[in-house]
This record gives sequence, C-alpha cells and structure tokens, in this order.
Amino acid sequence: MEIITTSAGKKRLAHNGFVYTKKKTSKSTIRWECSQRAANSCKGAVVTDINMTTINSTTTHNHEGDQFHVEAMKLREDILSTATANRGQPGQIIADKLITRPVEVRAAIGKTESLKRAIRRKKRGVVPVEPAGSVGIPHPLPPQYTTTQPEGDKSFLIYDNAFTDARLLVFASDTGLRLLGMAETWLCDGTHSTAPKHI
Ligand SMILES: [Zn+2]
Repeated sequence: MEIITTSAGKKRLAHNGFVYTKKKTSKSTIRWECSQRAANSCKGAVVTDINMTTINSTTTHNHEGDQFHVEAMKLREDILSTATANRGQPGQIIADKLITRPVEVRAAIGKTESLKRAIRRKKRGVVPVEPAGSVGIPHPLPPQYTTTQPEGDKSFLIYDNAFTDARLLVFASDTGLRLLGMAETWLCDGTHSTAPKHI
C-alpha cells in the first residue's frame, strides 16, 4: 500500500495495481474508492485505519489491477508538479520524464497533448494573469516579472520606458548579456511563441 499526494494536494492510495481516491473519513477509518468508479462503474473500495497504515477491508473490482496504471498516475503527478515549479517548456519536461520509463507506463499515461493541457491549466493558477493589452501592464512592473526564475533574485528587467501607449520593456539576464558581449555575431528572431500575448 502506498499513499501518494497529488500536485493538487489530494491523497491517493495505490494498492495491488489499483488507485483509490479518498472518499470519507470517520473517527477511526478512511474509505477509499476506485479511481475508475465513474469511468468503469467499478465499486472497488478499501477501508484503512485513520493513519493510513493498514487496510481493514476491501471490496472487489470489476477489472484487473494494473501496476503500469499506478506508475503512470505517479508519473503524471510528478510531471505536473515539476512543470508548475519550473518555467521550462511543458513539452520538454514531459519528454525528459517519459524517456526513462517503460513503454507500458508511457502508454498508460495517455496523450502528451492532454498532459500539456493539464500543465497549462495548472500553471494558470500559479502564473499571474496576462494583461489584456499594453495599457494594462502595470508600472512599475511587479517583482515576479523583473527577476529570473526560479531563483527570483537575479535582475531580468533592464529597461522600461514607462509609456503606457507605447510600452517598451527590455529583459535580459546578466548571464545572457555576458554571452552576447562575447559573441562576434548576433542573430535576431521574432517574438517567441512562449511569450505572453502582448509581448
Ligand atoms: Zn476498480
């Protein structure tokens, strides 16, 4: 039996290839129901003691347990918490996490696109809301935009003209500027697809 805390702070119980969600807590026991209850009409359930250390009783499932399904659920939570804690590309984070896993786990975790969507949904709760237009960009810029992440203490905003109708913001890290200073040739590119809409 294994207790897993999801990236949303919820508890899951994994046992014999089944995943359970916490349903009801009484004085001395907790009732957990099969995570496939809705999708599969499975009535599988377990009751544990309040400290989640022993299983007191089990109700049979209408499907087989699948350890790969359990591993996929854990991997999904791992990907979600890594992606929300980092500013890296979700696609890259997913690829890095999947590469070492068995093919069965990669199959059980589902489509990369739906994982990316889950990451975007989760990040929306963590990353500040994008301004509606250049007029909506506050001045001075709040600190979370002016320093590098995840350290949050290194200067990133190097210029701000403060004109609301023609705002010009220049961002660069010290490391990036040093690299530019050393380079003999500079190649320029357009707005990165990852930048907020109005930047
Ligand atoms: Zn079940």
